[in-house]
Amino acid sequence: MFKTLSNKFYDIKNNFFSSGKINEKNIQDGIKAIEEALINADVNFRVVKGLVKRVKEKALGEELIKSVKPGDQFVQIVHYELVELMKSDDEERLPITKDLTVIMMVGLQGSGKTTTCGKLARYLIKKGHRPLLVAADTQRPAAIEQLKVLGKTLGEQISEERGEDFEVPVYSAPQDPPPKICKDAIPIAKENNNDIVILDTAGRLHIDDALMDELLSIRKKTKPDHVFFVMDSMTGQNAFDSAKIFNEQINIDGVVLTKLDSDAKGGAALSIKEVTGKPVKFVGVGEKLDALEEFHADRMANRILGMGDIVTLVDKAEQLMDEEKAEEMYQKMVDASFTMHDLLDQFQMIKKMGNLRDLMGMLPGGLGVQMQNVDIDESIFSRIEAIIHSMTPQERDMPDIINGSRKLRISKGSGTKVQEVNQLLNQFREMRKMMQNMSKSGMFGNMMSGMG
Ligand code: GDP
Repeated sequence: MFKTLSNKFYDIKNNFFSSGKINEKNIQDGIKAIEEALINADVNFRVVKGLVKRVKEKALGEELIKSVKPGDQFVQIVHYELVELMKSDDEERLPITKDLTVIMMVGLQGSGKTTTCGKLARYLIKKGHRPLLVAADTQRPAAIEQLKVLGKTLGEQISEERGEDFEVPVYSAPQDPPPKICKDAIPIAKENNNDIVILDTAGRLHIDDALMDELLSIRKKTKPDHVFFVMDSMTGQNAFDSAKIFNEQINIDGVVLTKLDSDAKGGAALSIKEVTGKPVKFVGVGEKLDALEEFHADRMANRILGMGDIVTLVDKAEQLMDEEKAEEMYQKMVDASFTMHDLLDQFQMIKKMGNLRDLMGMLPGGLGVQMQNVDIDESIFSRIEAIIHSMTPQERDMPDIINGSRKLRISKGSGTKVQEVNQLLNQFREMRKMMQNMSKSGMFGNMMSGMG
């Protein structure tokens, strides 16, 4: 996700702004490069124009040129504008405030609606809720069965994790019209002691009146608390048009952008809010039930700018490991006391979590960017781990003491080249510096507010 953009932005930052000297010409060049990067990432043209205009106005002001660290300040301007483009007014992705909350999922066929219902159910169960899934997609023949399988699989997963029986019920009544199915599901949920109802409504290949009438009737009969439009990030401009029509006719609250794992460009994520007026709330990053992430504009802006996304990494880690340990790691990043010991710990944690490339891409700086570009196999991990293992505890705490002779010893001990040791040390320094900068500029503070 965002591979194209984060590579490009990382280069732009290094090429134009790493030196202390900055003038109007290299700001103009930097802005031009950003414009091209955004257009190449399929960001909507109008959105690019607006963003570039705002960045230009701010960046060409006297303040930036006179500032002590113009490069960093420029990045902050771009960061701010990216956040403004994508942000949601409310910080909570899915506030649940009632005894029974109804969530209605809408979207075209194949967008990932049924899969997302299963993923949302998992997300909510993890937060302590008891959802009922409702199979109201009578249009696509396999949808009902698919939802039942998702419910069963999810129930088994949660039962295994918790060591006790947990069921994820799926209500279906294929003989009934969808509005009746949805309406009937509500008393059933109450009786069943479910506190959430997730409606998997029907899609079509194209929008038509029959679909809109059906969805409106469901909306009227069930009064959903949240209506999410599920959108395939790979479908481009057509999907925006559909999102707009769904919003105009059904009034959606937000978008779930799916298949971002297969979309290296990520232009849709940057354009939706501006084009449709409704924010992205979640993103789908794989076919499995746990492949759903909350969408937070500030975290995404960090990823796009090659600064990684530590909060999402910690969020994921918390699901798999000791919460305290994950928090401890996060704290170390915030106060920039992160050492090579911690990097090693983090590698081991990432290895346990799977989907290495995406996760490594969440590390700040060149290490994260580099990792998105290679087919990560275990050997790269093993080499970096071997290098860290060959350091003494003191060297891991204070990598700055590693001089030429120490490097030689470490490279021999780990069976790697001195250049590899150098590269890791440089990337580590850069990562730490980035953490310090983010910490100072309050970016961690903003990110913390998004932590659950
Ligand atoms: P529906 O017709 O909208 O209900 O679509 P489905 O839920 O059946 O999804 C269509 C296809 O997209 C299925 O093969 C899903 O596994 C796949 N899919 C859904 N979400 C994602 C995602 O976030 N990433 C990837 N890679 N595939 C997804």
